[in-house]
Amino acid sequence: MAGVDWDRLPAASQVGAEMHELMAELYPICRSLTGEGVRETLRILEREVPLEITELPSGTQVFDWTLPREWNIRDAWIADSDGGRVVDFGRSNLHVLGYSVPVRGRMPLEELREHLYTHPGNPDWIPFRTSYYNENWGFCLSQRQLEQMRDTDYEVVIDSSLTDGYVTFAEASLAGELPDEVLFSTYICHPSLCNDNLSGVVLAAALAKHLRPMSLRYSYRFLFGPGTIGPLSWLWKNEADLGRIKHGLVLSCVGDPGTLTYKQSRRADAEIDQAAANVVRAAGGSVIPFEPWGGDERQFCSPGFNLPVGALSRTPADKFPGYHSSADDLEFVRPEFLADSLRRCLEIIDVIETNATYVNLNPKGEPQLGKRGLYRGVAGGSSAETALLWVLNLSDGNHSLLDISDRSRLPYERVREAAETLRKHELLEPAGGA
Ligand code: ZN
Repeated sequence: MAGVDWDRLPAASQVGAEMHELMAELYPICRSLTGEGVRETLRILEREVPLEITELPSGTQVFDWTLPREWNIRDAWIADSDGGRVVDFGRSNLHVLGYSVPVRGRMPLEELREHLYTHPGNPDWIPFRTSYYNENWGFCLSQRQLEQMRDTDYEVVIDSSLTDGYVTFAEASLAGELPDEVLFSTYICHPSLCNDNLSGVVLAAALAKHLRPMSLRYSYRFLFGPGTIGPLSWLWKNEADLGRIKHGLVLSCVGDPGTLTYKQSRRADAEIDQAAANVVRAAGGSVIPFEPWGGDERQFCSPGFNLPVGALSRTPADKFPGYHSSADDLEFVRPEFLADSLRRCLEIIDVIETNATYVNLNPKGEPQLGKRGLYRGVAGGSSAETALLWVLNLSDGNHSLLDISDRSRLPYERVREAAETLRKHELLEPAGGA
């Protein structure tokens, strides 16, 4: 019953600051489904943890999907007749519609207008828009910028390329005692946006980095890929080995001030569902049922795979203010919330690592705890004593420690400590024999 080695972790303030610093370094990079921005992101993440990188060629047929061409962009702007850039990719990579095909020309505002996207409800925000699977081009700008544009001709340049290339994804794997794996998946296709989803990227990297020196029962795999096609490509390449995935979590939007949200796997009754719900509820968060929209859990939980993979976030995507806009920035995501998300993930891992089912070796009546020094007879009992009684009572070979924590509403950690104490006093043994 080793579990997470908490002593190896730096203080929460330090891990939070480190995650936020890494996020600030990744923030300016123009990521998309494919391209150099993804590769540059992975090169930076490799400093945190070794990565195995896979590149699949554009056009590869992956289940029902054809992998897209690779998109790269060098510069883009809209300039007025004096050559002054009224919209400049150099100032924010959100200014270009993701996957814009190259454009170079002059046109009147009227013609340009159908390629301009704003966020009228929040006139200072630049929206984040993409056109992955329809060839198009466009600019995203604040409503205020648009209102300042005069009814004249503009020079329009998008210096991009959309060519045969690769879809890139990366894995960090940590070998445990068992070949059975716990999968963490996160997406790396968003440009300068923090909660959705650099928060998920830095959380997965921090988890991998901090778990790596620990001796763990399960093996761990961290998948960093573009949304939808990343998980699909990984599932396609690893289809024969998916049986080793025993538990999984998709990480997204884990740095905002909201409380935690756990979205159940399609199965709803997997051990990860029970473990995550136990931890998230104890932390004041909420549990929501599976539904076939949202993030990459849709692929892992498609009926042909039906993997035990849930999704962990704080405020779910599209429910927090500033979602998919320039307001989702380094100020919105705070180190303390990143650190809290890391802590809760480690608590979930600790449950998965240590959950077990035991048998009470003295089931006829309660064993006399007082003569073993386990019961101090405080009126009403301390929570440690209450936990001993719950573990003794429910350890009939049919209830795991997690079941006991759920039913008693005692923290899992308390229940696990009680089981360790009872084992030391030979009052408990693992179900199925020691
Ligand atoms: Zn998004």
